Amino acid sequence: MKIYDIVIIGGGPAGLAAAEAAYKAGVTDIMILERDVRLGGILNQCIHNGFGLHTFREELTGPEYAARYEEKIRELKIPYSLETMVTDLSLSEDNCKVVTCMNKDRGMYKVGARALILAMGCRERARGSMNTPGYRGAGVFSAGTAQLYVNIEGYMPGRKVVIVGSGDIGLIMARRMTLEGAEVKMVVEIMDHSGGLKRNIVQCLNDFNIPLKLSHSVVGIRGKNRVEGVTVAKVDEKLKPIPGTEEYVECDTVLYSVGLIPENELTRKLKADMDERSGGPKVLESLELSVPGVFACGNVLHVHDIVDHVSEEAAHAGENAASFVKTGAVPDGAKGYVDSEEKNVYRPGENEDKITCIMCPNGCNMTAVKNADGTVSVTGNLCPKGIKYATEELTAPRRTVTTTVKLTGSDAAALPVKTDKTIPKDKIKDVINELTGLTVSAPVKVGDVIVSDIAGTGADIVSCSEFSVTGGI
Ligand SMILES: Cc1cc2nc3c(=O)[nH]c(=O)nc-3n(C[C@H](O)[C@H](O)[C@H](O)COP(=O)(O)OP(=O)(O)OC[C@H]3O[C@@H](n4cnc5c(N)ncnc54)[C@H](O)[C@@H]3O)c2cc1C
Repeated sequence: MKIYDIVIIGGGPAGLAAAEAAYKAGVTDIMILERDVRLGGILNQCIHNGFGLHTFREELTGPEYAARYEEKIRELKIPYSLETMVTDLSLSEDNCKVVTCMNKDRGMYKVGARALILAMGCRERARGSMNTPGYRGAGVFSAGTAQLYVNIEGYMPGRKVVIVGSGDIGLIMARRMTLEGAEVKMVVEIMDHSGGLKRNIVQCLNDFNIPLKLSHSVVGIRGKNRVEGVTVAKVDEKLKPIPGTEEYVECDTVLYSVGLIPENELTRKLKADMDERSGGPKVLESLELSVPGVFACGNVLHVHDIVDHVSEEAAHAGENAASFVKTGAVPDGAKGYVDSEEKNVYRPGENEDKITCIMCPNGCNMTAVKNADGTVSVTGNLCPKGIKYATEELTAPRRTVTTTVKLTGSDAAALPVKTDKTIPKDKIKDVINELTGLTVSAPVKVGDVIVSDIAGTGADIVSCSEFSVTGGI
């Protein structure tokens, strides 16, 4: 059995940042094991922008953010094994971590690790955990599965959609399905507020006139072979449906976006202490589990909203794992990580005049009011960029459009693309119309111009991902 200094399970943003940091801390004998066909994790299907403001001081799409880390891994020549699923973990008598994995070339095999970094991410809570009555007809998906179909595999899950859950993923899928030509009937949220960012309420729902039904729940799904509609009812303060408030909504698709669960079946095999509140393992400041030499970072530890925080946390896990390999221990005061993000959730009637600036990592929470004479008064900004952003948002909003075009000749059917600059909000439809039916052939690289001056906006459509002819990167 080959024994590595560090084995990392998961090649998403957490695994990649941990690998880079461990390498830079002097441990180069590393192996990343990833079950998917490419590195990058969930980011490959998150084609919207909003990633990377803290790490790169730029707003990137998910694939672009992932590509930056993949490039670092290739530059440092850190080995990784794709399409390799880890199925078991155990400890040998001399405290070597034994990783059982399988892939189509080697079948089932074991590797050893002096230190192990868990970076397996999370999975979605499904319809089953919501106890929604009704038939099991086709057309019910988790939002992430629908995102995979649309953004990577190039399929449309349906045409008339109801979304359950108004966290950021639900909101982002409402916009995505709309841009792909579906009619999103409503987003149904059982709480009296949305768990999503106000910015996503504005840009994903309000921009497209999609209703948000707060304090409502889907109480029935109709349709034996295929979904035909759902019954939506108002809920009381105990979240129980109120009889007499039912409304039938015709649709062919229901997307559930009702929470994420850290993926810890493997962690439990090591008999690590678990934190039942977060669903992840209990860790010390150093991100080390109750099992010495095993570290965790990213969504496997607890669900993170912002990928920049994942990268920062994972870098600490990588440095501390390297220290464990070199010295057999993690030094006192080893760098830990505290997720200090305060989420500005949307509640109608509250903070209606608040706006969060996205021009730089400061993320100023500003107050912006449009005056009778058309001018805008802004307070709470740390720099002039805030005034520009708020004024534009209240008078002539602009958006970066992210979508996909058809891809041929590679292993994905869809290529994520975006406008290289913001365009007037009322031009979004024209941009999408011009891209409909466009096909791009691999190879294609990040930043390649796909269409110049799209819809006369002065913006170019550029590729956000890299695909070779043979597939993957
Ligand atoms: C739908 C969605 C939208 C998001 N939008 C934003 C946003 O707009 N802005 C933002 O900053 N953040 C966003 N995030 C959050 C951000 O993308 C995540 O926090 C980040 O991707 C987590 O990184 P990770 O490496 O921990 O997990 P992941 O990206 O999930 O990576 C985990 C990797 O581990 C692999 N793996 C799991 N189990 C095994 C196994 N047994 N063997 C081998 N490999 C395995 C998986 O295949 C995967 O590649 C979003 C997240 C989701 C789910």
